[in-house]
Amino acid sequence: MEETCLIKKRALSSVKSPIKLSLADDSIRNKVKEKPLNLKLKIDSIKDKADSKKQNLNLKRFHNEVSKLKFCPIGSNANISGNYDNYLEVTLSHISQMKDIHFDDALESPSIYEHFPKKILEKIVKSDKKLLLLDLDETLIHADFDEEFLNDKQIKYDATISFVSEEMYSQETKDDTNESSLTTDDSKEYSGEKIVNTVGIFIRPGVKEFLEEVSKYFDVGIFTASAREYADSVINYLDPNNKYIKFRLYRDNCINIGDLLRVKNLNIFKNIPLEKIVLVDNNMYSFAAQLNNGILINSFSYDKTDTELSNVLSYLINFILPAEDVRKINRDFFGFQNIVEEILIKKI
Ligand SMILES: [Mg+2]
Repeated sequence: MEETCLIKKRALSSVKSPIKLSLADDSIRNKVKEKPLNLKLKIDSIKDKADSKKQNLNLKRFHNEVSKLKFCPIGSNANISGNYDNYLEVTLSHISQMKDIHFDDALESPSIYEHFPKKILEKIVKSDKKLLLLDLDETLIHADFDEEFLNDKQIKYDATISFVSEEMYSQETKDDTNESSLTTDDSKEYSGEKIVNTVGIFIRPGVKEFLEEVSKYFDVGIFTASAREYADSVINYLDPNNKYIKFRLYRDNCINIGDLLRVKNLNIFKNIPLEKIVLVDNNMYSFAAQLNNGILINSFSYDKTDTELSNVLSYLINFILPAEDVRKINRDFFGFQNIVEEILIKKI
């Protein structure tokens, strides 16, 4: 996907020519700041052409509504990976495809109870703490699997991690899904032969401090749409002594929408009320099933000056922690549910 390609190009160029990159970054930031509404939206990905014109109008209206609400107020800029237009376009077209899905009916499929150690689940259900779910890719880290990048000595990853799987990582698949992933072609018969995959990762600035701090106040879990083998290797690196992260949920726990979209349906935490759960994710469609439980964070790729985690930490401590119902706070702060309902579902 375009965004991922952009991230890669920028990650690569950041190392090869840091001055150029910094200029490019500033120019993107300025562009977003100066012209937040001057956006050309394309909705080619929406198949129904008859609906296309209407959607286009809706998207324009979305922009107007969003500008009033200060879309994505967390962080110093409203830029998602330097590609705000594309982000909105993709996200809205994805969410519009989900509008007829009744997530409540789809609860049983991705059971957390298969993976969840019973003792931990019982502890969390009984806990007075709120549940903080964190996405992994582009939220806490950015990973490169591409050999071209991994072999480039000029790229200084924060860590290079290996993990074993039965499937070879496919760059093609990563580009399609816009997230780190293993190949998922179910029609393939895997030989059972183990393959060592290598991944280079950039760690989002402040991850360790963030995890240390939030784990004092929240029950913290990772909820990733990536494959278990890959995700575990990264999480083990981030939290080697299992001090901060109490549990992990993976791709199997997501609901697949179409071929590529994976929604993290929070209703899978059956015995934990939604008023106590938040999900921090760089993709809005990840929390499309419960928009008011989502905290949108800008995508991270490599930027060492990124301060989004400290912004999110501040929001969590000051707003979410004391909240009786986190949905009300998020609804008032982000307004995602209202916007999507008004613009995409009611199609006013
Ligand atoms: Mg992500």
